[in-house]
Amino acid sequence: MRIILLGAPGAGKGTVAKLLTAYDGSVQISTGDILRGAVKAGSELGKKAKGYMERGELVPDSLIMEIMEARLQEPDCAKGFILDGFPRTIPQAEDLEKLLAKLKLKLDLVANLEVPRDVILDRLTTRRTCSNQDCQEIYNIKSKPPSPDGKCLKCGSPAIQRADETVEAITVRLETYNQKTAPLIGFYGKVGILKNVSSLSSEQSVKEITGAIKK
Ligand code: AMP
Repeated sequence: MRIILLGAPGAGKGTVAKLLTAYDGSVQISTGDILRGAVKAGSELGKKAKGYMERGELVPDSLIMEIMEARLQEPDCAKGFILDGFPRTIPQAEDLEKLLAKLKLKLDLVANLEVPRDVILDRLTTRRTCSNQDCQEIYNIKSKPPSPDGKCLKCGSPAIQRADETVEAITVRLETYNQKTAPLIGFYGKVGILKNVSSLSSEQSVKEITGAIKK
């Protein structure tokens, strides 16, 4: 499948994407994960992206398109891809259209994960993420806690609160989402491939998405 997951930070895009990869072997492409990896590695890309990310702002479109142009042509994308956190602006969506046309690929669906704002705020402030770049298991201190000493249950690395999951950064991220990313709902609505999904349960979202693709 070739799909885009839209939704505010904390809507569950990462969790739903991971579940969808198990469905047909499509690969999850998270621009957030790619950027966090670059920051940790201290690469040129990471140095350019770090400040924007820590403030909860978007990284410039040109940097993101450079990443995506290369990523979508890697061999593991042949089975399909689930775009998690990209596109995030109208210019990115327009550039993606051009890139897909060049690669002779078509999207199957754009799933918009809808979650009430209070649920999102609660989810983000209680989220912990495994600090091991190759694991990145997601925890929640209320519903899915790491070990009592704060370690990942899968790999034993510390499960940490991301720098952009402080209340200040979350507020900026949600505002940025409303201003820059929410207009994509109208953009893909016009293209005719949008499906709104109520994302209170990840399993239910996956059912709705795979059901819509089969039709
Ligand atoms: P995420 O994990 O998807 O919430 O992304 C974390 C941060 O990475 C965002 O707050 C942005 O600073 C940056 N980022 C991720 N994806 C994009 C994108 N498509 N466009 C611009 N910035 C992005």
